[in-house]
Amino acid sequence: MNVILLGAPGAGKGTQAEKMIEAWGIPHISTGDILRKAVAAGTPLGTQAKRYMDAGELVPDFVVIGLVKSRLQEPDAERGFILDGFPRTDAQAEALDRALEELGRSLDAVISIDVARDVIVKRLTSRRTCSSCGKIYSLIADPPADPAKCDVCGGDLYQRDDDTVETVTNRLAVYDRSTAPLVDYYRSKGLLKQIDGDRPVDEVFADVRSVVEG
Ligand code: AMP
Repeated sequence: MNVILLGAPGAGKGTQAEKMIEAWGIPHISTGDILRKAVAAGTPLGTQAKRYMDAGELVPDFVVIGLVKSRLQEPDAERGFILDGFPRTDAQAEALDRALEELGRSLDAVISIDVARDVIVKRLTSRRTCSSCGKIYSLIADPPADPAKCDVCGGDLYQRDDDTVETVTNRLAVYDRSTAPLVDYYRSKGLLKQIDGDRPVDEVFADVRSVVEG
């Protein structure tokens, strides 16, 4: 199963990807997660990416395209993949098409998770992530028992640097300008499945499941 999760920041792509991994065990390829790890580790990639991420801008295409192409060639991705946060531009979508063709692979579905803008802003600014196991919480919809600690592993919860109101506004503008047009790109290829993401996580996942399992 080769799937892309499309949707604005805060639509719930990461949360649905967690459930998809649990259900089907296929690798989750999140360019945002890869870049955040590089920033935390202080690698040259991280140093290069950080200023774009802090401003809510996109990291240059050639950087993320290179990352995804090499990740897709790792052995675990042979069983399938969930791409989350990639592609985000026309150039990335076209590069992905070429990379998959070279690998003799193709996409099964592009799932667009749709959520109204005001809901997204509330979600992003209330999002917290576990620094230890990566579990994602919402202080509004899915609050942990202790707002500073993970219910699952006890790790410290943190707010992403780019989840502040100012950066969120720019990330959404960048999404509208660069990424939203991909909905039409994949619709024209007959791959697009749209899901209403403004519902409880399990209801959204039931729709994801029916897309994936057919
Ligand atoms: P995300 O976790 O997907 O919201 O990504 C966080 C940030 O990482 C984005 O705001 C961008 O700065 C950068 N990023 C992640 N994926 C991409 C991508 N496919 N293209 C360019 N920049 C990206």
